[in-house]
Parts: sequence; C-alpha cells; structure tokens
Amino acid sequence: MIYDVIIVGEGPAGISASLYTKRANLETLILAKEEGTLQKVGKIENYYGLEKETSGKELQEIGKRQAVHLGVTIKKEEVLQIEYNTHFIVTTFHHTYEAKTVILATGSARKKRDIKGLKELEGKGVSYCAVCDAFLFKGKEVAVLGSKEYAFHEAQVLLPLVKSVTMLTNGEEAIEKRAEGILVEERKIREVRGTDHVTEVAFEDDTTKKIDGVFVAIGTASSSDLARKLGIKLEKTTNAILVNEKMETNLPGLYACGDCTGGTLQIAKAVYEGMVAGMSAIEYVRKGGEKNECNK
Ligand SMILES: Cc1cc2nc3c(=O)[nH]c(=O)nc-3n(C[C@H](O)[C@H](O)[C@H](O)COP(=O)(O)OP(=O)(O)OC[C@H]3O[C@@H](n4cnc5c(N)ncnc54)[C@H](O)[C@@H]3O)c2cc1C
Repeated sequence: MIYDVIIVGEGPAGISASLYTKRANLETLILAKEEGTLQKVGKIENYYGLEKETSGKELQEIGKRQAVHLGVTIKKEEVLQIEYNTHFIVTTFHHTYEAKTVILATGSARKKRDIKGLKELEGKGVSYCAVCDAFLFKGKEVAVLGSKEYAFHEAQVLLPLVKSVTMLTNGEEAIEKRAEGILVEERKIREVRGTDHVTEVAFEDDTTKKIDGVFVAIGTASSSDLARKLGIKLEKTTNAILVNEKMETNLPGLYACGDCTGGTLQIAKAVYEGMVAGMSAIEYVRKGGEKNECNK
C-alpha cells in the first residue's frame, strides 16, 4: 500500500501534522523511534490551554491519544533512509514503506561529534552519508562510527563497494544483528588522524588501525542525515532543514516542521509548523503531486 503521508516523529510537530492530514482523510502513518524532547521537559507553563501544571511527558501522551483516537497509525520504528523516485520509499530496520508525501518532524539534532579529528577532516575522508559518498571509497578500508541500527544500515550500504567495513562503537556494545563481512571494533577511540585525508584511527589503548574513511552514524539518523541523502538543502551552520512559509523543502512532496527547521525551539512553533506542513501535504496529495511553487 502507498500511504498518502508518512510523518517521521511523534513530537508536537509530527502529531500536529497528523491531526490535519488524518481529518482530511489522508492515509497517515507516523514512524517514531521514541517519544522525543518532551520526555525531558519537567513542567510546561508557556503553552496555550494548560490550566494546571503539566509535564512534557503528560502533554505528549495527550497529543498521541488525540491522534490515535482520530485513527492515525503510530509505529515505533527508527527511519534509516528515505529515497525518492516517483514516490517516497521510507526504510526502517525491519520494513520498507511507501508514501506520496513525507513530513520530517524529527526534532533538533543534538548529536555529539566530539571525537578529535572528525570536524577537521570533514570532506577529507569523514562523511555523514554512505549512500552519497560510498563510491568515493571504492576498494578502500572504511569505518562507520556508531553502534546502533543506523550505523549498521550505513555499513550495509558501504559493504558491496569497499574493501572492508569496520563498525567503530567507541566503547559501546554493538547491536546484535550483524551482517557477514562487517567487522566490529568496540574499543574506545582517542582520535581520527590524517592531514590531507583520513589515514588512521587511534584508540585509547595506544593502538591504531589504518583506515581510508570514516562515516559518522552515531545514534539515530537525524533530520540532517535523512535530508542529506535526499539532496535537501540545509542551513550551513546549524544543519536546520531549509523550508519556505508552507514548510516545503526543495524536494516536491517533502515537508519539514518543528525543531528540525531551526529558529525558536518551542512547542507552539512546532505545533504551528506541523499544522502548516499537514495542510501543504493535503494540497499536494489532492492535486495529484503537482510541483509546488518553490520547486517549479
Ligand atoms: C529541557 C527542555 C525543556 C523545554 N521546555 C520547554 C517549555 O517549557 N516550553 C516549550 O514550549 N518548549 C520547551 N522545550 C522545547 C520543546 O520540547 C521542543 O521545541 C519540542 O518538543 C519540539 O517538537 P518537535 O516535534 O519538533 O521535536 P521532538 O519533540 O524532539 O520530537 C522528535 C521526534 O522525532 C523522532 N525521530 C527523530 N529521528 C528519528 C528517526 N530517524 N526515525 C524515527 N523517529 C525519529 C523522535 O523519536 C521524536 O518522536 C524544552 C526543551 C528541552 C530540551
């Protein structure tokens, strides 16, 4: 089946978008890895309609119940990749879904990339997108930095092209499901080294491993990770997804809303942008996927 809209994220932005798309009779699926930022919010006092002290967790539960009550399907799955052909193909660890439109509501990427050498060697062997850069490492020895489903997915993308792939977990335990041919190195990393190009990774125990490239895939695939693979324009310094006033990205049928578009990171803004993205997706589906103004 092809969904009318797949929304990635079940925070205020994603849930808000779903309320509009579902009520417009669009077949709506939400894919979310986990609850999101509201789980960390103790007490909210600056959002409309909360007459008594409400925690972020409570507010999120109310929002989710509202969406489910309307008939929105929510699945607990991490999205690893989104591709676009004539429609969108959304890949999670276990499934592939198809949709006419996708709304990214993935929150802000607060990833720690604090291993020495990563920043300095960006574009010189350090990459953030296997599907974009795998070809540049044909026949070479590469590493994927990360230990979870996303890192594993990136390693699988690289495997057919490169000489070897090693998952560098930096002290974390790697996920159990490993494909044949993917090596795993769980030692703590001190730094990634190289001058014009990545040459080796140094471990805390004073040993090194020769490597030609490092693909960063720590934790969950962030909005910018997913966007990069689709060729979506990002803000240069913050990596926020660039959208217009209709929450349209530069790819027709792909919208973004909430913290992942940058600006003021607040619930009210996420809910507003979710509504706009939902309305734009409705218009797009009803017009049969006609190109929007910003993409003509
Ligand atoms: C400590 C703290 C206190 C705050 N206090 C307030 C406050 O008092 N008032 C206020 O208005 N705002 C507050 N905020 C900000 C507010 O929480 C955010 O602005 C809001 O939650 C953003 O909503 P969102 O839907 O854009 O993202 P989020 O709520 O972060 O939701 C992101 C969703 O995307 C999912 N996701 C991400 N990547 C993937 C993937 N690859 N696959 C599947 N799912 C994915 C996540 O699991 C999650 O469900 C606070 C934030 C923090 C951190």
